[in-house]
This record gives sequence, C-alpha cells and structure tokens, in this order.
Amino acid sequence: MKILKLPKGKLDLFASVVQQFGELHAPVEQDGKYVFKRLARWPDARLEYDRTILPPKKYFLPPRETLFRYRPGEGFVPSTDGLDQRIVLFGVHACDVYAINILDQVFLGKYKDPYYQARRRNIAIIGIDCTPDKQCFCRSMRADFVDHGFDLFFYDTGDYYQALVGTALGDDMVLATGNLFEPVGPADIDAYKERSWNKRRAFHLDVEIRDLSEIFEMEYESGIWDQLGRKCLSCGSCSMVCPTCYCYDVSDDVELGSRAGKRTRSWDSCLYFNHALVASGENFRRDRASRIKFRFYHKQRGFVAEYGRPSCVGCGRCVSACPVNIDTAQVIDRLRRVEDVGSR
Ligand code: SF4
Ligand code: SF4
Repeated sequence: MKILKLPKGKLDLFASVVQQFGELHAPVEQDGKYVFKRLARWPDARLEYDRTILPPKKYFLPPRETLFRYRPGEGFVPSTDGLDQRIVLFGVHACDVYAINILDQVFLGKYKDPYYQARRRNIAIIGIDCTPDKQCFCRSMRADFVDHGFDLFFYDTGDYYQALVGTALGDDMVLATGNLFEPVGPADIDAYKERSWNKRRAFHLDVEIRDLSEIFEMEYESGIWDQLGRKCLSCGSCSMVCPTCYCYDVSDDVELGSRAGKRTRSWDSCLYFNHALVASGENFRRDRASRIKFRFYHKQRGFVAEYGRPSCVGCGRCVSACPVNIDTAQVIDRLRRVEDVGSR
C-alpha cells in the first residue's frame, strides 16, 4: 500500500481536483448534528465530526429504491435509477468503511446484488481518522482501523494528512493533483505512531468480544432479554441508523385498474412486529423481548458463525438514537458479568 502525505493547507485544492471523479459529498452540520450530503461548497464540509445520523450505507443501499417496473406485454424492466451516478464520499470514518466491507460480504458474496454492486463501483470513498467519544467502542469491535474498502484514507498528523492509497482509483486521484502529495519521512512516521497511540488512549469504552459468541450461546435464557423487552419500544431507530443492518422489505405498487406496477424495497427492522410475520398469520417473534434478543444474537453470534466476526462495528449510533437509552456496550457488559446470573 502506498503511503503519502498532503500538506493541510492544500486540502482545499485537493478537494477541488477530486470533483472530476464524481459529485462531492461529505458530512455537514445540520441542527447540531451531522449528515452526509452533497456539498454546495467545500467550506461546508465538517471533517472533525463525531458521527453522522445515518451512516454512508444510505448511498449503497438507499432507504427506499425501485428494483424494477412491470407492464403486461412488456415484462420486467430493471430500474437503473441513480446506479451510474459517480460520487466521491469524503470523510468516512474507519468504522463506517469497515461496515461497508461487512455489507460487501452480504451483497457481493454468493448472491450478488446488482443494485448494490453498481453503486459500490461508482462511489469513491475517502476515509478520515477520528477521535472517539463516550459512545464509541469501534476499537473493541476491531473496526477502528481499516486496511481496505477505501480509495484513500487520511490521518491528521499535525501539519499534514498522511494518506493511505487503497485502490488504483485512489492512485489516480493522487496523480490528478500533480505534485500536491509528498513522500513520507521518519518524522511523519513518528507523527503517525504518536497519533495512533493517542487515539488508543482516547477510548472511554472497552468491550471484551473474544469469547462473546460463546457467552451469547450460554445466556440464551438470561433474564436480561425480558428486561430489555419491557423497556424497548420497538421503534426500530437502532436498525435505521446502524451501518451494518441490511434487512429490507419488498412491496409491489400496482397501478389502479391495471396490472402494471413497480417493485420497491425499503429498509426494514427486526424490531418491528411484522418482521417475522408470515402469510399464515404466524409470527415467530411476537413479543418485544424475542425481537430485541434476535437483534443482539444476529449481530454478535449469528453473523460470527456465518462470516467469522460480529456485524457490529461499535459506532455508537444505536446508543444515540435509542429513546429509552438501551446501550449496546452496556448490554454486552451486563451479559458478561457474573452478578447478573442472578437475574435469570
Ligand atoms: S449495533 Fe449499534 S454500535 Fe453496533 S454497528 Fe450497529 S449502530 Fe453501531
Ligand atoms: S431504538 Fe431502542 S427502543 Fe427503539 S427499537 Fe431499538 S432498542 Fe428498542
């Protein structure tokens, strides 16, 4: 992997050059929070942000999208809406890049999703390092550093951004800037290592995940799940903001008086009552306790069995979004504690 550095004073120039690779989107401030959106002008970008309300997932798996349209005599016509739009996503945190890599395993694995695939091909990712706040536990989830899934990744080392070049496209971006980037020297390496140590020390949360899957296996009947079920409102906010939740619902909108229509998919949540409702009227997870338990088991145990790691990246969004303060790190911590065995 190529490692270069960009003088901070030249970041504006770099941003103007990368616009030739696609429409520039970055975090901007909105009512005291941050959202990824198209930049009207570069100074609107906020690269020192905690977390965006919705993760960059929305670019690859939109909250609602048309899959295909159909009409008698014409068959099915796959939708291409927005699939060829070239975008440069600037300022993606490591945990969110990690989350996209997890989505890649789901949508580009055995069964490839052509809609996701097209967007993934056309959207460039420029990552940026961050400073953890009190809700971040990405280090515990091994998602505080990524070595792939981005085109460029920037580390703030003082007077420079140290840049990892992750792909040929990232290399093209560097070349397009002429000589803005410089080689790194021993002082830059020391600055990087110092930043890395400082970040490590900045984490407030430490969640042990080594044998977590086994703890979940053992605590299937724990009283914690009923306690959480009594508290949870089934609002689904935790799923909506999660960078790795990928469940979707599919519906057909048929035109009145015709057999033509379109098929749409939209984000779904396993916390919703209807999520496990089947045609016979049976519901496999009728009560809230079983639904919230399912969410935790899928992320921390089921995904490990299937893909070898939890699907949680420790971004803390579900903690920020939950109206009744259900905190993923605290739930894991409680599950590990011996004294909570009495709550069974
Ligand atoms: S479960 Fe919560 S902390 Fe984990 S990735 Fe999803 S939103 Fe982030
Ligand atoms: S955000 Fe909180 S209350 Fe809403 S479904 Fe998730 S855990 Fe339950």
